[in-house]
Amino acid sequence: MDRSEHLAAAQGALLRADDLVAGYLPGVNILNGADLYCREGELVGVIGPNGAGKSTLLKALFGLVKIGSGTVTLRGEDITNLKANKLVAKGVGFVPQTNNVFPSLTIQENLEMGLYQKPKRFKERFDFVTSLFPTLGDRRNQRAGSLSGGERQMVAMSRALMMEPSVLLLDEPSAGLSPIMQDEVFIRTKQINRAGVSIVMVEQNARRCLQIADRGYVMDQGRNAYTGTGQDLANDPKVIELYLGTLATA
Ligand code: ADP
Ligand code: MG
Repeated sequence: MDRSEHLAAAQGALLRADDLVAGYLPGVNILNGADLYCREGELVGVIGPNGAGKSTLLKALFGLVKIGSGTVTLRGEDITNLKANKLVAKGVGFVPQTNNVFPSLTIQENLEMGLYQKPKRFKERFDFVTSLFPTLGDRRNQRAGSLSGGERQMVAMSRALMMEPSVLLLDEPSAGLSPIMQDEVFIRTKQINRAGVSIVMVEQNARRCLQIADRGYVMDQGRNAYTGTGQDLANDPKVIELYLGTLATA
């Protein structure tokens, strides 16, 4: 799909980023014209080599990295450079790659932190996330710091889900986990998506990510190198040669 086809397909998307240029230091751009869209109900995967700018893209979408030019829209409303707390209130959730739980707080307290903007809805949202992750309900009084990496990832995703986001941004949820827990994360991510949450997922486990994604982007040097359905990308000889050959772990 070339850029003009991509632009046409992005019409009416839930979340949409066009031609983003952004970076951490003045004059040093990490994103160099990145485009992305996520339609209502979609699970979109973003893969690509280390340092390509995948985390920077998610941070820019979530108001944590200043966007120099380009636009981000949510249901057509311009949300470019809005602060994270405003974005959360509008229905954007973000789970960063690291330090995504409060280790000294219990599971329940972590979930309460996720809902600080709407504390009255705690019971209803707690029931929802523990229907997805029953063990979190059973172990609600356990400190997050005493959990395994995989369990902590479940807490982090649940914390973001407490605010009932329409779109969830996930940064490498399977990183650092055992193969069994990685599988669990992909299954859970798909389950969250099926429960009605649109998802943009950045992953180092590229092949597994493309298996569960409706569509994917291969990011390289701060822009999309390839985009298409998860299946098309996973079977594209250029994508395999350049990005899946060495990145694939499953
Ligand atoms: P990816 O997630 O694809 O591995 P990142 O978005 O983390 O890539 O990083 C893209 C580039 O931005 C890298 O060159 C990295 O060194 C740089 N970078 C990331 N975070 C920062 C930061 N906080 N300050 C300055 N440069 C950063
Ligand atoms: Mg990253």
